[in-house]
Amino acid sequence: MIQIAKLYYSDPWLQELRTKILSQKQEKGHSFVVLEETIFYPTGGGQPHDGGLINGVPILDVFEQDDVVVHVLEQPLQGDDAFCQLDWARRLDHMQQHSGQHLLSAVFHDEYGYRTESFHLGEEYCSIDISASSLSTKEQIAVEDRANHVIFSNLPVLTYTRHPDEYSKVPLRKVPDIAGDLRIVEIQGLDYSPCSGTHVTATSQIGLLKISKWEKYKGMVRVYFLCGNRALRDYARKQTICGSLGSLLSVPETELYDRLTQEIERRQELERRVAELKSELAAHQAKSIVATSQSPFYVEAPQATVEEAQQLARSIMDLATGVVIVSAGERVILAHNLQDKLHLGQLIKGKAHPLGGRGGGSANGAQVYFTDPSAQKEFLRLLNEELGQR
Ligand SMILES: [Zn+2]
Repeated sequence: MIQIAKLYYSDPWLQELRTKILSQKQEKGHSFVVLEETIFYPTGGGQPHDGGLINGVPILDVFEQDDVVVHVLEQPLQGDDAFCQLDWARRLDHMQQHSGQHLLSAVFHDEYGYRTESFHLGEEYCSIDISASSLSTKEQIAVEDRANHVIFSNLPVLTYTRHPDEYSKVPLRKVPDIAGDLRIVEIQGLDYSPCSGTHVTATSQIGLLKISKWEKYKGMVRVYFLCGNRALRDYARKQTICGSLGSLLSVPETELYDRLTQEIERRQELERRVAELKSELAAHQAKSIVATSQSPFYVEAPQATVEEAQQLARSIMDLATGVVIVSAGERVILAHNLQDKLHLGQLIKGKAHPLGGRGGGSANGAQVYFTDPSAQKEFLRLLNEELGQR
């Protein structure tokens, strides 16, 4: 079996490499390349693969098969030499999030006994699922404080392999169910985790750790977190939002919450007042309609919402007995308070549906919607015929 040096383990900060091409094959329009040694991490252990270039050709995927690292490229490579350039921003991001996860899991376990059941490292977010039923603000702050204290203490992050006979000498956070030697990642003296990913070499390289939110998930708690540059970018984004809101409302950031609460209360008060005025207006309109016409009462209110049209119909029926037809733009709202068997929902089915109108309703209230104005006009004509002088 070929032995390929996995330099992403021995030197995770190595960003360029000159090496030899061992083999290359074409399949489904892509080139599958094996190198003598590699700096590109293959997908595994919950961590996505590295990106970068080999001889200027972009890497699409990196995977491991029978201990051999395979690089998938857009096009074939020429010659025997390979010049590898790692997408360092992507790798550093993975190392920061992944190492931050070890730290976060260790602190949750150490402080509260919560075990980490699963871990997600993605482009969009990173999260761990912990064995807790909920998470208090106090716990969240305590965990963040402790994790960041460890980051600022610049503890070494060590990696080494141990034979199963030696596991008992290492206080592993979780013993995996696999045979053979185990690669262990140790945050010196704090955490010992079996892991095959890439990690920083000292905690300070994680930069910063922030829990962004948590939620209940399948009887556990899912904790979302950000580390390093992701946390910095998130901070910048939030700074922009807070800054823009502060300028908009002309208040310092510390007063944003109180000011927005006041604005929301003011809006609710205005909405209440508008509703009162609409109701008064509808009563006033109804009075004038009833005084100057008779059932069926026909009202043209092109700007009215369905709710306003219904309110107007109710106001008319408070003052008179009969049928009300409100034409509100593309909609027609119907209502009646007669004692006879007039069923408006049935009427719409029989008269409006054949014309392409959509809608329906009950015996006493219904509405129908027309996209074609001439169809609505025809419906209103039929309605007039049908209702006569009711
Ligand atoms: Zn790891």
